[in-house]
Amino acid sequence: MPGMTDRRTAVITGASSGIGEACARAFSRAGLHVVLAARRAERLGQIAADLAAGGGAATAVPCDVTDPAQVERVVATALDTTGRLDVMVCNAGLGYNGRLEETDAETMHRLMEVNYFGTFHAARTAVRHFRTTGSGHLFIVSSIVGRKGVPRMGAYAATKFAQVGLGESVRAELAGTGIRVTLVYPISTETEFRDVMAREWGQDVAGRGPRQSPDQVAAAMVRALRRPRADIYPMRLSRVIPAASALLPGLADWVSTKFARRPK
Ligand code: NDP
Repeated sequence: MPGMTDRRTAVITGASSGIGEACARAFSRAGLHVVLAARRAERLGQIAADLAAGGGAATAVPCDVTDPAQVERVVATALDTTGRLDVMVCNAGLGYNGRLEETDAETMHRLMEVNYFGTFHAARTAVRHFRTTGSGHLFIVSSIVGRKGVPRMGAYAATKFAQVGLGESVRAELAGTGIRVTLVYPISTETEFRDVMAREWGQDVAGRGPRQSPDQVAAAMVRALRRPRADIYPMRLSRVIPAASALLPGLADWVSTKFARRPK
């Protein structure tokens, strides 16, 4: 529907910064009513006001995605406010950098709670609603490390692989229905991701290799909104990584050591 205003309603988790914020702005430009969910209420309010000032429709709902009741409240607010829920973007997440032997179980649980269970709660709530209407579009923002593990990112990669296992299975469950599932695999993206790693874990890591902007990821998601796709690799060449990993795992491991983030 290029050129047409899209009247759908989208809930976006992790919409207070980075990829989620860029996605909210891009979806709003496309005409969707965006429902912004994250913990920082003030940031969400500012973004919603900014979008409204630009002629868009946005609703901010503070939410911690680790709490299923709060996620359900976001969806209920979307339905109460706009009368519909058409798109769910499971994007909220955080990173971690460290070898297996230095990663404690509490950290692993925390990463799973936000990255995997946050996705699980939002996806499940949305799909239950989509089943009642027979249509909808679920996006899950994983990562290229949800397709290929890299040194020092095992704990984080595990959460990103978990999202992929869930998303691919749901996609197959929903085949033949009007409900679409799109998995998104960004490469290193310039967001607050590394600031959060510094704040949460005291980690000061250097990114290496190619980068992309959150707007590039969001633009690829807008394209998928119009022409649904199973998988999005916003950096196109990164699509070869899972295939290379399956065919030549030793070589892929060696290459991954060249791009892994490590302490400065
Ligand atoms: P940012 O840190 O910029 O954004 C993360 C977002 O998640 C924020 O809006 C944050 O909001 C939200 N969030 C974190 N914890 C919670 C929580 N418990 N409940 C609700 N919201 C939460 O990072 P990115 O934009 O980079 O990350 C977005 C997604 O992209 C993540 O899933 C990440 O794994 C993935 N990704 C990022 C890459 C990168 O290099 N940046 C590469 C590949 C994938 P708040 O703090 O207000 O709650």
